[in-house]
Amino acid sequence: MRFPNPLKLKADPAAVAAALESLDPVSLLRNLRIELCVRSESARLFHANPAAPAPRVLGAWDPLLRRIELFEASALDDSQLAGALAHELFHALATAPHNRDESLAAQFAIAVVSTVSPDRIAGLARALRTAQRS
Ligand SMILES: [Zn+2]
Repeated sequence: MRFPNPLKLKADPAAVAAALESLDPVSLLRNLRIELCVRSESARLFHANPAAPAPRVLGAWDPLLRRIELFEASALDDSQLAGALAHELFHALATAPHNRDESLAAQFAIAVVSTVSPDRIAGLARALRTAQRS
């Protein structure tokens, strides 16, 4: 099954930054038919090697459920939280195989966060924390 992307939003940092400037993140994701799940708790990951340090995961994109989960929303600063959303939006919007590239996702998040105005970043983070579930 294919899902429409009503906003025709591409994984272009300027376009995503413009969308985040004009829409609250909850509405933006709803328009993209993406479920948003914001949590204060940290990600509980299956970790194959308990002896190795667990990686810190601030977000996850589930392509089957079309869901973005953000973790540690209360602990992160505004830019980190907005960056985590932008990072996951890259995974959601980019085309395969680039959509799985963590380095591209990280660069994308930096580009988006540095483009959106600081006031707006604060507003985004506030809206995300308000949407927090646990
Ligand atoms: Zn990622």
